[in-house]
Amino acid sequence: MTRREGDRVFPVMLDLENRRCLVVGGGGVALRKVQGLLEERALVTLVAPEAVEPLVALAEAGRIGWERRAYQAGEAGGFWLVVAATDDRAVNAQVFRDADDAGIWANVADDPELCSFHLPARIRRGELQLAIGSAGEAPFAARRLRGLLEQRIGPEWAEWLAAAARFRDQVRRLGLTVPEQESRFDRFFESTVDGENLTARVPTRAEQQQWLAAGADERRMEPVATAPARGPGLAAAAGLVSLVGAGPGCPGLLTVRGRRRLAEADAVVYDRLAAGTLPCDLPAAVELHAVGKAAGSHPVPQEEITALLVLLARAGKRVVRLKGGDPYVFGRGGEEAESLVAEGIPFEVVPGVTSGVAALAWAGIPATHRREAVRLSLVTAHDAAQGEESLVRWDLLAGDDHATLVGYMGVAALPEVVARLLDAGMDPATPAAVIEQGTTSAQRRVVATLAELPAASARAGLQPPALVAIGPTVGHADRLDWFGRLPLAGQRLLTAAADEGLAARLEDAGAEVVAVPLPVTPAARVVMAARPLTGCLVRRPAEVDGLDDERCSPGWGAEVVAWCVGEATASRARDCGWQRIEVLEQTLDPGGLVARIAAGPQTASG
Ligand code: SAH
Repeated sequence: MTRREGDRVFPVMLDLENRRCLVVGGGGVALRKVQGLLEERALVTLVAPEAVEPLVALAEAGRIGWERRAYQAGEAGGFWLVVAATDDRAVNAQVFRDADDAGIWANVADDPELCSFHLPARIRRGELQLAIGSAGEAPFAARRLRGLLEQRIGPEWAEWLAAAARFRDQVRRLGLTVPEQESRFDRFFESTVDGENLTARVPTRAEQQQWLAAGADERRMEPVATAPARGPGLAAAAGLVSLVGAGPGCPGLLTVRGRRRLAEADAVVYDRLAAGTLPCDLPAAVELHAVGKAAGSHPVPQEEITALLVLLARAGKRVVRLKGGDPYVFGRGGEEAESLVAEGIPFEVVPGVTSGVAALAWAGIPATHRREAVRLSLVTAHDAAQGEESLVRWDLLAGDDHATLVGYMGVAALPEVVARLLDAGMDPATPAAVIEQGTTSAQRRVVATLAELPAASARAGLQPPALVAIGPTVGHADRLDWFGRLPLAGQRLLTAAADEGLAARLEDAGAEVVAVPLPVTPAARVVMAARPLTGCLVRRPAEVDGLDDERCSPGWGAEVVAWCVGEATASRARDCGWQRIEVLEQTLDPGGLVARIAAGPQTASG
């Protein structure tokens, strides 16, 4: 029975340990099949008159049995699984027929007609395996797809699966009903897997204990110490969607009301631009949904975002839709609000500090200035690239000398914007700037004349999110660069949340501080990953332990300096394999500490 076009295949994963398997053929393909079988601890018999060196070596080492001869009709019958990889199709066909007659699964390499099973391309992370099959039709495609996924599925999935298996055992021991078990599995999965980025994390023991103790339906009854406003009465009503502006990026620029709505929320749907402003102490029970654009990657389509908001609100959840800057300034907040109204979902807006004003301030540029700029125009610069369709009146803007023009979404369209303004007669010497990731530790700015700005910005390699500012007040940028002069500007420091006073001092000195509660919450992990960290400040060995697992966060690269207070803390960090350790004297006051971090690492990194 040979395989016909369009035959169906049923994927299974076989346990071959200590089962006899036959490989016929002694070339490179046979070698790969033998290696694959040995990995699964099969007992391999090789039949081939000649064999490549590594197969000979395996035979000599006793890892496989080698019958040094041609295949004999009928012998395939005595095995569990048979693979033929000779270069003689007649022999391969004979092997296949013998196996098929004996009811044994057989595979002939690269010959789908002579296969009763196929070997998928696979990805393995510990016990986790992904198998990609093409029913033998296009193994090359499966292999390339595997290559692609290999890069996206990180090593952490191995540990994640091991943790999931342990969690399952624990859940099973509780003697729950099936729905109760499933709701615990849901919480494990939802809290540990980032489906969009295909990343996973191992939850802490405390988190798992919490999930074991209560399923989704019982969630509201958990005591949540960190969310004071979470009672009935004054808190936001169930089913309400709050469109909350997260501000431009600096966590301190989230409004007081926005912070309160987050503390009351059951679910938070956040944009990438807003990820760094999530409060790290959001309880683990709050659902976190990442949506929206990171430049260069595919955004979740707007309809899906709206559908998610509707779904959450209809389930009676208090929903925060967290958006960068202000929700109604180029944030598509208006569209989301319209959709909510259309679905009959109650909503409100909590405005945020828009980047077009805040990032300018951080870059030394007043948005308006007496007798210099008496009008402020916020435009979408993206629009300039739309050719005829642009709704922005660049010609009118070009004619206004006493104004500040701020272009959002402007990096790609910058040459076009400048060309249009110059064409319409704007002075090429007008001061202009591009500000990238304003108000954050990653802020960079380029200041030039209007005519030179595109080249200067390209030279500096500025990337979105960035704003373009054009007008006379940009001329103040150097004199008013208060942020750039702060000793810790550009630093993004991780600390354990215990000491709020210290975090405030670091922030005052210009650092972006990620103060995470221990054990680390899911929200803190989102914040950590939002932008690269430059350092981690640990004050006690216990903090090293609490943060050790986090070193696989995407935000925690090789450049992170481990600032360790006291020798005991440093020695724990060394034991855990931390790199770039700097010891800080225990007697340093906050001022001394800031000075020491500002001076940079003093030990040669190795
Ligand atoms: N609602 C947001 C804007 C969303 S549109 C607000 O009010 O700020 C996205 C654009 O905003 C980006 O392309 C960029 O031009 C700008 N932007 C947002 N945050 C920024 C930041 N921190 N620095 C510079 N530009 C920023």
